[in-house]
Amino acid sequence: GKQPATAHVVLLASPGVGHVLPMAELARRVVAQGDVTATLVTYANFSSAGHGFPSALMATLPPSVSTAVLPEVPLDDLPANARIETRILTVVERSLPNLRDLLASSSPPGGGGGLDRTTTCEFRDLPEPVRLPGCVPLRGADLVDPLQDRADPAYHFLVELAKRYLLADGFIVNTFDAMEHEAIAAFETLSGKGVYPPAYAVGPFSRTCSSGGEKAEHGCLRWLDEQPDGSVLYVCFGSGGTLSMEQMAELAAGLEASGQKFLWVVRFPSDKDRSASFFGSGHGHSDDPLSYLPEGFVERTRGVGLAVAEWAPQVEVLSHRAVGGFVSHCGWNSTLEAVAAGVPMLAWPLYAEQRVNAVMLAERAGLALRPRGKNDDVVVTREEVAAAMTELMVGEKGAAAREKARELREAAAEAWALDGTSRKAFEAVAGEWKKAAAAAVRSRGA
Ligand code: UDP
Repeated sequence: GKQPATAHVVLLASPGVGHVLPMAELARRVVAQGDVTATLVTYANFSSAGHGFPSALMATLPPSVSTAVLPEVPLDDLPANARIETRILTVVERSLPNLRDLLASSSPPGGGGGLDRTTTCEFRDLPEPVRLPGCVPLRGADLVDPLQDRADPAYHFLVELAKRYLLADGFIVNTFDAMEHEAIAAFETLSGKGVYPPAYAVGPFSRTCSSGGEKAEHGCLRWLDEQPDGSVLYVCFGSGGTLSMEQMAELAAGLEASGQKFLWVVRFPSDKDRSASFFGSGHGHSDDPLSYLPEGFVERTRGVGLAVAEWAPQVEVLSHRAVGGFVSHCGWNSTLEAVAAGVPMLAWPLYAEQRVNAVMLAERAGLALRPRGKNDDVVVTREEVAAAMTELMVGEKGAAAREKARELREAAAEAWALDGTSRKAFEAVAGEWKKAAAAAVRSRGA
């Protein structure tokens, strides 16, 4: 692991919201000095103004500022008419043991589990977006599912895991500079200051047509051969994505109403779980997923669209000249495969980190349109589905996303060309490994 060689300053804000604000500003300036990290300590007593402040403020602090809250101390033994000064100073006095404990256990912040300490409400209730270094602002509700319930054991597993990330010597990431330039640059700055281990963007690594091992003669490819260039919308929610009965019916009706050509990988619906297919599609079903489609759908859309059960050779499909758009759950592999093929996306996130990907793809990379907008939890109506699909395939926004997809396809190819960013990043990792190996040899020799 990498130990940051930085000074660590603990700032204690007096009880009361009004003290936290300037202290937070001071903390911000302290760490702006470089090579200094800070912990901002506040009191639980008198800290809630009842409208999300100051946890919203805390969430906007840079990652080199961590925060800690001293536990609330009881004041009910004070007389009812005790002055505010008495109350405040009693809090200060009674909190001393907690402060000592905190100082004894306090270690420099590193961002791992940061948000966990700086906020107390559920993330979806945060009034302000979460601003992570170099990332598009994220609504708390867009963060990964296991972080949406602090009482769930999965929440704590994830926070502990995030803290342990800081012990790594570095991260090898399947992305590339042109796709996530700001985030990669922010990581570089922060790792330079010892806040995070370095991140090496060495991607994109995605399957190529020949590496999929799939039967290239899948019927849907023959069907695609008969369709005009860029005319078909490919609809697939990864290996695990699952729609509810109602959503499946709306999607079908919307596809039909849009009049766009489509190739849809249809799964068994589930009203319980958006990742039901993850545990093996068809599990517990003896029938055909296509039988869950609306009555007469397959017949009515014959010639216009093709519904296939369970699985399609996605890499081959995306790189087929007939495919012009991709309705995707925004799984990372699917995303990189769309990039490699230069196909724009309609972001339809379902679970895991897919909402974060969707926001990034729509608002930063420009590769995706996001029809469900800010409400991923409600059923998307057939009208919305039809409008979004039409926009992606023949609208102006779709054309812009298509242009962006082509640019990214070029950039992805360049990333691994000679002197490409990903190739260089990978050579840097390899250099570290070689250094470590040489050092090990030397120390064995000594
Ligand atoms: N995939 C496929 N055919 C399908 C569904 C998925 O080939 O019908 C492949 C897809 O090409 C990708 C992977 O399965 O490589 C899904 O990975 P991703 O990260 O997109 O989503 P996840 O399945 O992990 O949610």
